[in-house]
Amino acid sequence: MQTIIEPFRIKSVDPIRMTERPERERLLAAAHWNLFGLLAEDVIIDLLTDSGTGAMSSEQWAAIMRGDESYAGAKSFVRFEASVRERTGFEHVIPTHQGRAAEHLLFGVFGGAGKRVLNNTHFDTTRANCEVSGATAVDLPGPAGKDTRSDEPFKGDIDLVGLERELQEHGDAVSLVMVTITNNAGGGQPVSLACLRQVRELCDRFDKPFFLDACRFAENAYLIQQREIGQSGRSVADIAREAFDLADGCTVSAKKDGMANIGGFLACRDNDLAANLRQMLVVTEGFPTYGGLAGRDLDAIAQGLHEVVREDYQQYRHASIKYVVDRLHDAGVPVLRPAGGHAIFLDAGRFLPQIPWNAYPGQALAAELYLAGGIRSCEIGSLMLGRVDPQTGAELPAQHELVRLAIPRRTYTQSHMDYLIEVVLDVHARRDTLRGIGIRWQPKVLRHFSAHFEYLAARATV
Ligand SMILES: *Cc1c(COP(=O)(O)O)cnc(C)c1O
Repeated sequence: MQTIIEPFRIKSVDPIRMTERPERERLLAAAHWNLFGLLAEDVIIDLLTDSGTGAMSSEQWAAIMRGDESYAGAKSFVRFEASVRERTGFEHVIPTHQGRAAEHLLFGVFGGAGKRVLNNTHFDTTRANCEVSGATAVDLPGPAGKDTRSDEPFKGDIDLVGLERELQEHGDAVSLVMVTITNNAGGGQPVSLACLRQVRELCDRFDKPFFLDACRFAENAYLIQQREIGQSGRSVADIAREAFDLADGCTVSAKKDGMANIGGFLACRDNDLAANLRQMLVVTEGFPTYGGLAGRDLDAIAQGLHEVVREDYQQYRHASIKYVVDRLHDAGVPVLRPAGGHAIFLDAGRFLPQIPWNAYPGQALAAELYLAGGIRSCEIGSLMLGRVDPQTGAELPAQHELVRLAIPRRTYTQSHMDYLIEVVLDVHARRDTLRGIGIRWQPKVLRHFSAHFEYLAARATV
């Protein structure tokens, strides 16, 4: 059959409150035109993030009931540890309350003043934890990742030439090499096994530890199976395992491919490193057999790690995202291609060429998607990532003006995706009438979360 269906039935439903445009205009104005200020109840389809927002399976809910809340040596931990070991092959498994707590522990060992950490692209919490430790976070995205229009299959690959140069020039300062799979900050694009093998070789040659930021390890493995030459006959679990086998350890947020609503972990092979990490864990997270989690959460993740490598699940998830990307692209909507693992990215810079970067076309588009159809998305452009020039104090643009439509796992159906397409096409048909957005008030850090906005006069340029 041609039609790829959701490989599950729905057992419990969460009603959506329907709203009309006039009400949404009032609600967004009251939130100072910032989508983060809306209540979830006032959103029809919430695509703000895929983190912790997925639906759990009946087996995961059953696992929640099996949760053992013993302080030390709980049965839940034994199951969690076995599940992580089966997936990753790493001997030492350290539970944390989220991915960023695992990062905090990791940089407690590998961070510090004068150190350099290399990554294809640091996710924002990874960069923050690295920099808070005093170390420098160096991004080395590959050349293919820079062009939103090219159809390259592995736009998440790290720049191997740049990596070798860094290791030659700053060898002593480099404390850790990381690769983020899939590359979240770079559009959810996958990293190839060929690239990971070369990173391993370079790390061996320069004697450096290699860690994966493996939040979306299963989506990455599925995209390798689909796109990398010679990999189509292998299972998602087998490919994922080869990626882990190439690394010395990993940090993971279980809110993504852990298929859970909370949780994370750090895993590694080295005994001394693990002992060191566990000592810090007790101070900031908890006893080593629960970390920052309840026993029931450990059990939900243990089960989620089995379900996420199912071929039918991965096939349905990627088919649904690709369906939206292909339909939008065919209708002439500028969208990042090829489809990544967890989200659809609209290229707001090309969608709204009349709006200059410092009138935030991504924010203008995200606001209009809410007004038009109650869809909540997230600007990833100069509002979120713009930098201030240290010399002149002038604001600098981000590399791209994007709007991310992140798809929660197993939460929305095909008709929600058809509705999403209809809303985007409606806004696209009226794109000439959209206006830029100015900032009326902003905080000093992470301004996109809480800034207040106002619409600029029609066709104003800044
Ligand atoms: C979500 C994420 C993190 C941080 O995980 P949290 O659970 O949100 O703390 C780190 N790296 C990547 C690539 C992520 O997507």
